[in-house]
Amino acid sequence: MIDYHVHCDYSIDAEGAAREYVKRAVEKGVRRMCFTTHCDLEPERRHHDGRVRRGGEIVDVTSDWLPSYIGDVREAAAVAAEAGVEVYCGLEIGFVPGIEKMIEEFIAPFDFDFLLGGIHTLRGMDIVSDRESSEYFKGRSPRQVCEDYYSCVEQAVDFGLFDSIAHLDIYKKCGLDFYGSDLAEAHRDFIGPVVEKMAAAGLALEVNSAPLRKGRASPYPSLDILSAAREAGVTRLTFGSDCHRPGEVADRIDRCFALAREAGYAEVCAFIGRKPTAVSFAEYVR
Ligand SMILES: [Zn+2]
Ligand SMILES: [Zn+2]
Repeated sequence: MIDYHVHCDYSIDAEGAAREYVKRAVEKGVRRMCFTTHCDLEPERRHHDGRVRRGGEIVDVTSDWLPSYIGDVREAAAVAAEAGVEVYCGLEIGFVPGIEKMIEEFIAPFDFDFLLGGIHTLRGMDIVSDRESSEYFKGRSPRQVCEDYYSCVEQAVDFGLFDSIAHLDIYKKCGLDFYGSDLAEAHRDFIGPVVEKMAAAGLALEVNSAPLRKGRASPYPSLDILSAAREAGVTRLTFGSDCHRPGEVADRIDRCFALAREAGYAEVCAFIGRKPTAVSFAEYVR
C-alpha cells in the first residue's frame, strides 16, 4: 500500500510522532509513505492556522521549525528502511492567491520529496471547519462557492510549485450538509478548465480517502471529476489518507484505487525528490 498524505504531530490538529506513524506503516505492510505536515502561511489567518507543534510546544509557522520536522521524518525513515518501508518528507502547503513568493522563500532552503497544494480557505474563511464554513456559505450559492474555489485552484496550478493538488472537491466536506445535493453537481461548469490546466502543467491530482472515514460514499474527488481529469490528460494520481492519527495510516486507499480504476487509471504516482515515479496499482496491493 501507499500513503502520500500523512500528518504527524507537527500539525496542531494531529496526534502522534512521526516514528509512531512509521511503526503503523510497517505493521500494515505499507510500501511507501510520505509525511505532509501542514504549512499554512496566510498572514490574515496566522492566529488560526499559522501555528505548528515542535517538541510539544506550539510555535508560529514562520519560525524555524522545518529543520526539526525534516530531521524527525528522516530519522523515522531510517528506522522504516530497516523494515523495507520507504518514508519520504513532504509538506501540505495551504494555498491562497497572493502568498506565492512567501511560500517559495520559506521552503527554498530545504529539500522535500513532495509538495502537496491544498485549498482550505476562501476569502479568509476556513471552508473545512463547521463553524467558519457556514459563515462563508451564508449568502452564497453552490455556484458561487465553486466559482471561488476553482478559481483559487487554477491559481494554485499557475503558481507552478506544487507536485499534486490535494482533496480537489473538499468544499463538499461541510458544503454537502449546508446545501444538500445541490452542491454535488455545482462543479460541472468549472471543472473542465481546471483539469485541462493541470494536464498542461503535468500536475498530479490526489485521491484522498478522508471522507470515507467520515461515512461519505466518495473519496475526494468524485468519480466524474476523476473521469474528467483522465479525459483532459491528467496522467498522474497520488493517493493519500490525510491521516491525523497513526491508526489511520493508509486507511481505505484500496477503495481509492478502485475508484481511480473506474475512471480509467492504472497507476499510482509517487514523488521522490520531487520526481514522479509511476507504479501499477497491482504492485501496491500485493
Ligand atoms: Zn488539506
Ligand atoms: Zn491534510
